[in-house]
Amino acid sequence: MKATYLKEFGGPEVLTYGDLPEPSIGPDDVLIRVHATALNHLDLFRRAGQRGTSTELPEPVILGCDIAGEVAEVGGEITDLKTGDRVMVNPGITCGRCEHCVSGRDNMCRRYTMIGAMVNGGYAQYVKAPRVNVHVLTAALSWEEAAAIPLTFLTAWHMLTGLAKLRPGETVLIQAVGSGVGSAALQIAKLIGAKTIVTASSDEKLLKGKALGADETINYSEVDFAERIKELTGGQGVAVVLDHIGEATFEKNIASLARGGRYVNCGVTSGHKGQLHIGQLFTKQIQLFGSYMGTKQEMLEVMRLVNQGKLHGVVDKLFPLESAADAHRAMEDRNVFGKLVLQVP
Ligand code: ZN
Repeated sequence: MKATYLKEFGGPEVLTYGDLPEPSIGPDDVLIRVHATALNHLDLFRRAGQRGTSTELPEPVILGCDIAGEVAEVGGEITDLKTGDRVMVNPGITCGRCEHCVSGRDNMCRRYTMIGAMVNGGYAQYVKAPRVNVHVLTAALSWEEAAAIPLTFLTAWHMLTGLAKLRPGETVLIQAVGSGVGSAALQIAKLIGAKTIVTASSDEKLLKGKALGADETINYSEVDFAERIKELTGGQGVAVVLDHIGEATFEKNIASLARGGRYVNCGVTSGHKGQLHIGQLFTKQIQLFGSYMGTKQEMLEVMRLVNQGKLHGVVDKLFPLESAADAHRAMEDRNVFGKLVLQVP
């Protein structure tokens, strides 16, 4: 099969396009003919051997956590999927046996691994996945839009519904609306019926945020977002802050919370340190949440809404699989709204 893979850590140039053997499947696996796969920051970290990704490099490694395609073959124990079914893949593989898995918090599984990071992923014509990770797509989405959905929508859904428990009518601040998680969170917050305030570094991105339904927009490279939040909320602050920027915005994020506010974080793209005024934590009765991916049940909820046409993948640019290195460079340049997607031949 054709695949883009790496045999050494490094810059985008280590991504090589060539031929590799197709994966062989076990009795509970599904072999998927991949049509599209979306990029995530994790791809860049894994490619460079950074940020807590494994430093082991069993060669060759195939990246790609977000996968859309059709079923090519099913394992002997599978009776509820057939060749040709259109599917999307939840990249999180869990043990299914530990206390977290059996209590429905499988995103806390100690053995959590990701298709496309520790297990070969979607930068290839074929990928295998356990049956429980494969979700049938009934909505008439393009492969590219479908590939833009799994990781970021699962993450944003867990953050807003599972952890911060955003309620209709509450106000949520969504940092970096141009990111995959930001553009997913905006749609989910609107679906919940919340008032949305979004930030971005450019007016162009904010216009796209408006088009996706943002109620208020803030260009954080031009104004102090915390001051603007005060104005927009009559000095009250917001109920929920959704963040993956980390260090650069942390203190102002906390300052932007209302009494009883919830801060939920799934990443630290600007750095991992922040000062917390612990007095404010208890006097304002703030809650802090660290978020990682989402549960298998939450993925089912996301898929139900995708298949009902209520959530939409946001695709910025398409690249052929062969040009994955160009897509990585584009992601590093950060001038992206939504997802970069590779089209698999
Ligand atoms: Zn487990």
